[in-house]
Amino acid sequence: MHDILLVGGGLGGLATALALGQAGVTTQLFEQSPAFTEVGAGIGLGPNALRRLKGWGVGEALQAKGFVPSQLEVMDAKTGQQLGCLPMAKTFEQRYGAPYLTIHRADLHQVLSDAVNAQGLSVLHLGQRLQDVKADASCVKTQWLSSEGQVVEHASQALIGADGINSKLRELAWPSSQLQASGHWAYRTLLPRHTLPAAWRGDAMGLWLGPRLHVVHYPVRGGEWLNVVVLVETSDAAQTPGWDSQRSAAQTAHDLQTAHRGSCSRLQDLVRMSESWRAWALFDRQPVQSADDMAQGRLALLGDAAHPMLPYLAQGAGMAIEDAGTLAQCWLQAGLSVEQRLQPYAQARWQRVAKVQARARRNARVFHASGALAWGRDLSMRWGGAAVMDMPWLYGR
Ligand SMILES: Cc1cc2nc3c(=O)[nH]c(=O)nc-3n(C[C@H](O)[C@H](O)[C@H](O)COP(=O)(O)OP(=O)(O)OC[C@H]3O[C@@H](n4cnc5c(N)ncnc54)[C@H](O)[C@@H]3O)c2cc1C
Repeated sequence: MHDILLVGGGLGGLATALALGQAGVTTQLFEQSPAFTEVGAGIGLGPNALRRLKGWGVGEALQAKGFVPSQLEVMDAKTGQQLGCLPMAKTFEQRYGAPYLTIHRADLHQVLSDAVNAQGLSVLHLGQRLQDVKADASCVKTQWLSSEGQVVEHASQALIGADGINSKLRELAWPSSQLQASGHWAYRTLLPRHTLPAAWRGDAMGLWLGPRLHVVHYPVRGGEWLNVVVLVETSDAAQTPGWDSQRSAAQTAHDLQTAHRGSCSRLQDLVRMSESWRAWALFDRQPVQSADDMAQGRLALLGDAAHPMLPYLAQGAGMAIEDAGTLAQCWLQAGLSVEQRLQPYAQARWQRVAKVQARARRNARVFHASGALAWGRDLSMRWGGAAVMDMPWLYGR
């Protein structure tokens, strides 16, 4: 019988294999895709995530492939004026023990999988999709469908679901909670920085706020590419989350043009620089309500499987990485049953992730506000500056 089975070889599953491997724990990781793939887009890692990754020995590899933005500049999408500025690079390093890092998702995935392979403690099973789970007091029995159509069975002490927003383990073991469509879409593109006008080649991370939209941009791939994400509210909500879901080129152009009707010419110029946008329909769930939402008996969830969130705090992967660290710490407690090790993991994590889920929802309202709420937001950023933009509760833990 295996010790721990991990479902899903995304950022959360790999981070968990790495964190457990650091402690000498062997794992079996099952990924439904026949090959590891990650979408061509950027991701931001707060110091809370990067500090943990540094502790697992991948800090240098990440910094070599990523980019450390000098600061966060928040702009008014309508007027193009700066609302506030948060120094990040050295300031974050001194304050939080790690900077804010922006990186291409494929690079992050590669660094994690290389590190897991180098440890040699996790056996990777590609092309294996979890189909069924039966857990009792003695073990967990799982059934997997291979990409060649064969059914394989395994028994293990514990099963950890890191299988993302459409988690099969969650569907089987926590069937009551529903995904919620937000009606928001994220459009993402990558632009070669050397082709951009000087105004778009700075070292800062940009955040533009406007009614029913916001735009985020930052360099990735050591500064070679600019990752641009336009988040818009639409009247039509998608049925399922996923890249390129239900969005034609015509719908994309329509959404982007409609959203940017009131934006300043500088921002409109940026959006016109790409004709190749990928769409992601945004879903989340009600914030986690209790530890039981994350672990029951020999089963546990982590990452998007446990707490999918809107990307308005840029912390989905960050929370998965934190989950991985806590799970590894709890697993190491000697002389305890599997349940006695998974329960403390859920106890330690549920309030933290619930707060981040709720704050991400709140940011959706604040970022996309108009009228009095937008006026108050802008005023507090102008007067409070870095003090209101920094998040020690998030980055410092
Ligand atoms: C537009 C957008 C921007 C974002 N920006 C940020 C950001 O800046 N910072 C940040 O921290 N987060 C960000 N996120 C969130 C982040 O991408 C996710 O939280 C993170 O990828 C979740 O990782 P995960 O491993 O839990 O799930 P996933 O990355 O979805 O991985 C799940 C894996 O499980 C596999 N799988 C699924 N079902 C099965 C099955 N039945 N059997 C076997 N394998 C299975 C999948 O193939 C996949 O490989 C963003 C998200 C979006 C949509």
